[in-house]
Amino acid sequence: MKKTRKMRIEPIQREEIYGNWKMLSPEGMLMCRVSEKKAQWYLSRDLATLEDEKTIRIKFEPNGVGDTSMYMLEDKSDCCVVCGVAHDLSFHHVVPYGYRRHFPEKWKCHSSHDNLLLCERCHVSYERAAWELKKRLQQIYAPIVASDREYRIKKLRAVKAAFALIRDESRLGKKHPLGRHRGKRHGHRNKELPSPKSIPPDRIEGLRALVAPYVSDFEFDTIANFVHEARKNLDLQDPAVDCGAVGLAVVAKGEDEIRSFIERWRKHFIDTTQPQFLSENWDIGWHKAE
Ligand SMILES: [Zn+2]
Repeated sequence: MKKTRKMRIEPIQREEIYGNWKMLSPEGMLMCRVSEKKAQWYLSRDLATLEDEKTIRIKFEPNGVGDTSMYMLEDKSDCCVVCGVAHDLSFHHVVPYGYRRHFPEKWKCHSSHDNLLLCERCHVSYERAAWELKKRLQQIYAPIVASDREYRIKKLRAVKAAFALIRDESRLGKKHPLGRHRGKRHGHRNKELPSPKSIPPDRIEGLRALVAPYVSDFEFDTIANFVHEARKNLDLQDPAVDCGAVGLAVVAKGEDEIRSFIERWRKHFIDTTQPQFLSENWDIGWHKAE
């Protein structure tokens, strides 16, 4: 059945996204690009000197070099890499974080190469295509058997019920639905979950019955923690995708598999979106040097 729910992706609010300040090593070599905020942080602590309008030179020896590919060192525009518009932008993770979070450290860090700016329209449109790839990858790496699927559907219902409960409580008691657990990393905010003003008592009982098998009590923090943990491996939109299991299966096959998995996502992004404003230095085959 075709999904008709509207996906919403929260845009980045700050005026300048990239900033494009240059950061030089003590010897004067261009190390990376940083935001104005970061540059000012170094300057204010006397850890760097101002070389020119948008260039700082650090005063200490850096701990190894960062990603010094042409792509990372060049100026970047605050615009959608696909269509070029400059509003409603958010970062898209070309390799979804649900997989990457299970990768060894060296593959997990230096992921800036795979964070690309997209406008809301292009982002939503690509996420739909990405969903199809996620389902294919699930079949390849970690097929979900029927019994497991039932379990996941049941748990998904419980997560949605739990979210409705804490959202309701947060409205009444002024606590944030996911409190300290809420990650900012993806910039996504799921608007599709129920947003009741105040749930009637009999409905609350119904929601609690769904959540009960998974929690020891109905305290706000217990339920929030259940949602937080469940969301790590259970996608809220489809129980047929388990990024965690796929990520681990990829890792188990070794480094070559991780490399080709990353490249597969990059190629899929390029083939699907045909980006017109992506730097020529962005490379499907790029990986951080050892
Ligand atoms: Zn766009």
